[in-house]
Amino acid sequence: MPGARREVTVGVVGAGQLALMMGEAKDGVGVRLVVLAASPEDPAIAVADEVLFGTGFDESALRALAARSDVVTFDHELVDLDVLGRLEGEGAVVRPRAAALRFAVDKAHQRRALAGAGLPVPRFAVLDRYADATRALDALDAPVVVKRARGGYDGRGVAFPAGRDEALATIAAWAGTGEVLVEERLDLVGEAALVLARSPDGALAPYPLVDTRQANGMCVETRYPSRVGADLLAEAASLAERVAAAVEPIGIMAIEFFVTPRGLSVNEVALRPHNTAHWTIEGTTQGQFAQHLRAVAGLALAPVAVTAPSAVMVNLVGAPSPPASTPTVAGVVVHDYAKAWRPGRKLGHVTALGDDPDEVRVRAWESARLLGAPAEEGTWP
Ligand code: ADP
Repeated sequence: MPGARREVTVGVVGAGQLALMMGEAKDGVGVRLVVLAASPEDPAIAVADEVLFGTGFDESALRALAARSDVVTFDHELVDLDVLGRLEGEGAVVRPRAAALRFAVDKAHQRRALAGAGLPVPRFAVLDRYADATRALDALDAPVVVKRARGGYDGRGVAFPAGRDEALATIAAWAGTGEVLVEERLDLVGEAALVLARSPDGALAPYPLVDTRQANGMCVETRYPSRVGADLLAEAASLAERVAAAVEPIGIMAIEFFVTPRGLSVNEVALRPHNTAHWTIEGTTQGQFAQHLRAVAGLALAPVAVTAPSAVMVNLVGAPSPPASTPTVAGVVVHDYAKAWRPGRKLGHVTALGDDPDEVRVRAWESARLLGAPAEEGTWP
């Protein structure tokens, strides 16, 4: 048909729940989706227009994905940045670019580059050998968190040693396999996240800040609006712009903040749709998955407005035994990722919207409990 716009084909490295939710948003945006799945069980296979098999560390699989796509984007950051850089050099369109993705792949690079841009991060040291451990702990002179620079996620590769000996033992165990980040353990008042979309020409579309609650390194719950107060809301907005200027992402970027008695500190950035913005699917006029596809496809970003005064998202994490049934609670939207049940595995999430934040939270947790999430809902700090 002359004049008709050819649909952009977006290739996604990974076919997990984030690619699944991109697939659920793709028709509204008007793009095709090709996914690079690691296993025939991957949830996004059900919604993709085309499926390839392989991992983000397999050069031939990444090449095949790039060849089938107008633009390559990501469901996760387990990917070979050198191969991506080569593909970019050969003309493939990779969004976010490999240089931006490195902020999410490599925590040592992230700390160095954000600190270098004058952004607030915990005091840190990067070690590439055990011999430097004692000097680093002496210089920090505080309780520490030890992190593998690469390969960790959802709290894996993050240790909270009880004392100096345990810190040294963790560094000894990890230093042989790559860089280790050692940083001061901050006294947290809470945690918060700001998710934004950035287009290839640098336009930004931020979502409002949310409070997040983590347990065992995994996000348990988010709430909009955040209760950090007007000063920190303004601080988060201005830090987010500075982080975006330093990272230059394309598509969705999430910025996780530590809330401390002295203000905000950047914990980490993710260069893909993020758990802390799942609420935006129903809670705003343009959810993060549609907005991500718009950005990476080079379409204009859509304006974002919230659809309710309050939104609570609770993750459905596999309980010790599978849920007996899947009843629903009125006024709560359930996202089932269609993954096999396994204790501790993220299986879905629920979102409740409404006027009264306390009532919305009760409703979200009632639904989450019925669906097998931990009975203990915990409290906000
Ligand atoms: P992951 O990349 O696996 O999500 P993070 O680096 O975000 O791991 O750490 C997971 C959680 O550990 C954080 O959400 C926070 O609760 C806690 N944490 C991490 N670093 C620090 C720190 N420097 N001080 C205090 N708590 C921390």
